[in-house]
Amino acid sequence: MNDCIDQFIDDLGPEKVIHIYEPKSKLRAIVVIDNISLGPAIGGCRMAADVTTAEVFRLARAMTLKNALSSLPHGGAKSAILADPGVENKEALIREFAQTIKTLTDYIPGPDMGTDEGSMAFILDEIGRAVGLPKVLGGIPLDTLGMTGYGVSVAGEIAAGEISLPLKGARLVVQGFGNVGKAAAKYLDRQGVKLIAACDSKGGLHNPEGIDVAALIKAKESGVAVSASDLGKAVTLEEMLKIESDIFVPAARPDVFNEANQEQLKTKLVLEGANIPITHPAAKKMHERGILIVPDVIANCGGVITAALEYQHQSEQDAFDRVKSTVTDNTHELLRRIIGEGLPPHDIALKMARERIAKAMTYRAHM
Ligand code: NAD
Repeated sequence: MNDCIDQFIDDLGPEKVIHIYEPKSKLRAIVVIDNISLGPAIGGCRMAADVTTAEVFRLARAMTLKNALSSLPHGGAKSAILADPGVENKEALIREFAQTIKTLTDYIPGPDMGTDEGSMAFILDEIGRAVGLPKVLGGIPLDTLGMTGYGVSVAGEIAAGEISLPLKGARLVVQGFGNVGKAAAKYLDRQGVKLIAACDSKGGLHNPEGIDVAALIKAKESGVAVSASDLGKAVTLEEMLKIESDIFVPAARPDVFNEANQEQLKTKLVLEGANIPITHPAAKKMHERGILIVPDVIANCGGVITAALEYQHQSEQDAFDRVKSTVTDNTHELLRRIIGEGLPPHDIALKMARERIAKAMTYRAHM
C-alpha cells in the first residue's frame, strides 16, 4: 500500500491531511484538503475499504484543478471512509464521520463512490453543510439527472467533431455502469452513439450490434448485474478493456490504464468520466498513439458544477446550462491548445487550471 504523499507536495498543497480513527465504532477515514485559494473546498466523500492516503490526495488535487477549471468559488478536497459501502452500520459511520469533520469548515463534502444523496443528508443533519442533497432538502439530484455523464457527452460531441468522428453509429465502450457511466451512455445514445460494451465490478457485456441502453439501465437499476443481462454476451473485466471502440468512457476506478497495459486500449477518443482513470505517463503514450483524451478535470465536472450551484440555491436548468457552457468552452480551449502548444491533453488541462488558480491567488492577501 502506497500511503506516502511526500512525493506529491507542491506549491498548490495539500493544505491539510487528516487521518481519523474512532476506537469505539472502528470508524477509519482520511480527509485531504488540498487548496482553498478559490474558496472553501468541495469534494466527494468516498466509501470503500481499500482507499489509500495517496489516492485521496490525488483525488483532492483533481478537485482543486476541476473546480478552478469550472470557475467555481471553491477549492479542492476529498475524503474517504474506509469501509465497505454495504456495511450494516453505514448511517452510524457516516454520522460519526460528519462529527469528526465538524470543525473543518473549509471542507464541504459531496457524494462519491459508495455514498449518495441520503449520506449527504445525514452529514447535513449532523454539521449543517454538505452538497449533493436530496431534492426535499433543496438538492439538485445530480446522479438521478446524470449531470456528470451529461457533461461527458457534451465533451464527446465537441471532441468527436475535432477528429472527424461521426457520432452516429460510433462504437462506445463504458467501463463502470454506475451513476456516471449510465448517464454518459444515455446522453451519448441520444446523439446516435452505439453502446457495444459495458461492465460493472462483477463483469462485462458485449454486443457488437449495439446494446439497448435504456433496457440495460432498467435492468441494472432493478439489481441485475450488467454481465447477467440478456442484452449481449458476458465477458470478463479484462476482455472488456480490449474491445475495440471509437469512444471509450472509463467511469469506475483510478489507474485502470498504466504504462504496462495502455497498449490494450484500441479506441479513437477517451472521455474520462472517472477521476484519474489513466496515469499521466500512460495518457502521454496514448496521445502519441493518436488517441484523443478529454481529461477528467474537463470532461467530468458536471457533478461538482451542479453541487456548487445547489449550494448557491440555483435551479436544475441553471445547472444544465452551466455544465454545457463550461464543458464546451473548456473542451474548445483544450483542443485549440493541444495543437497550438504541442502538448498532451493532461499537460494542457493542468496548465489551464494552474493559470486560473494563480490568477485567483493574486487577489488573496493571506495565502
Ligand atoms: P458508482 O459507484 O455509481 O459506479 C461505479 C461503477 O463502476 C459501478 O457500476 C461499479 O460496479 C463499477 N466498478 C467498480 N470497480 C470496477 C472495476 N474494477 N471494474 C469495472 N467496473 C467497476 O460511481 P460513480 O458515481 O458513477 O463514479 C464513478 C467514477 O466517476 C468515480 O471515479 C468517481 O470519483 C467519478 N466521478 C463521479 C462523479 C459523479 O457525479 N458521480 C463526478 C465526477 C467523477
